[in-house]
Amino acid sequence: MGSASILNVKVEKVLLAKPRGFCAGVEMAIKALGWMVRVFEPPVYCYHEIVHNKVVVERFSALGVIFVDDPSQVPFGSPVMLSAHGSAPEVVTAARDIASISINAVCPLVTKVHHEVKTRAAKGFEIIYVGHHGHDEALGTMAVAPEKVHLVESIAELEATSIEAGEVALIAQTTLAMDEWRAIADRAEELYPGLWMPNKSDLCFATTNRQAAVRALASRADVMVVIGSANSSNTNALEKVARATSNARVVRINTVADLPTDLSGTVAITAGASAPEELVDQVIARLKPRLGTEEVTVIDEDEYFPPPRELREFLKSLAQVAAFAFGEDPEVESPLARDSAISASAILAELANYPASV
Ligand code: SF4
Repeated sequence: MGSASILNVKVEKVLLAKPRGFCAGVEMAIKALGWMVRVFEPPVYCYHEIVHNKVVVERFSALGVIFVDDPSQVPFGSPVMLSAHGSAPEVVTAARDIASISINAVCPLVTKVHHEVKTRAAKGFEIIYVGHHGHDEALGTMAVAPEKVHLVESIAELEATSIEAGEVALIAQTTLAMDEWRAIADRAEELYPGLWMPNKSDLCFATTNRQAAVRALASRADVMVVIGSANSSNTNALEKVARATSNARVVRINTVADLPTDLSGTVAITAGASAPEELVDQVIARLKPRLGTEEVTVIDEDEYFPPPRELREFLKSLAQVAAFAFGEDPEVESPLARDSAISASAILAELANYPASV
């Protein structure tokens, strides 16, 4: 007997946090890799997981994308994409040297943080970087000025970090839990009077909006379901916010297969910025809420990040060559002209029907 048939269905209502799921940076990165697998013969290489979601990574792996942790694992002349989390400057250079084409799908908001690190380091600041040990975004950001950056993940680590003298800057990973970041920032201001910080914190709009949506549901839910992978920083932050602000039972799941079978009452659902909406749909279908679903919106996001510049230039050249070959006007419309109207979810759904390559 399958788990669906033994599910003790007592769920009254599902509350859907909005915003949830894919952010503008993840949309951009997934669509860009979607183009790579449709344009190139496999394998396409990707430095680090394109985004930290098991379902997304497995879908691309099935199409012949090989995820690597070192550019030296990429055979010379292969197409390469660099992940949304941002890469170390030496990785960007190595990928350009090795690849037939190298496309950097770094989120522009991570690039902004790299720029802050570079600028502050050039001015002689010591930089306290609040982030997660071993996370791809933290590794890429610290590599911008490794001799100047001190990584801390907690107040205890901050207090154990000794910076003798000079000016100090406080910079952060984009996907932290807001309260966690605030507590560390407050302590850093006490320890380092005159501390430099960006006007707004480095936590991105997608991170703060998704956390605000979880807070808005906290008092109404008996259970809070957070959809996303264990190595997704913003998913973990959503789970922390849910636990800190609600008395509800909190469960994080990768897919519907992880859903506990004894849920009841009102179930709130959110999803990390790298989790596809199809997973939310599957959870709702499994829960079958007696009174249906209610979407609770704290803000409408309309941010859009255009495809990486290298991809825009490459696809335009490709379209011009094809037009020329068929005797057509080479000033053809770019294949990306309508990119903003196409969602990453639609691309993922389309790719699910592609023949598997491995
Ligand atoms: S979570 Fe924020 S920083 Fe990360 S990809 Fe999304 S928008 Fe960019």
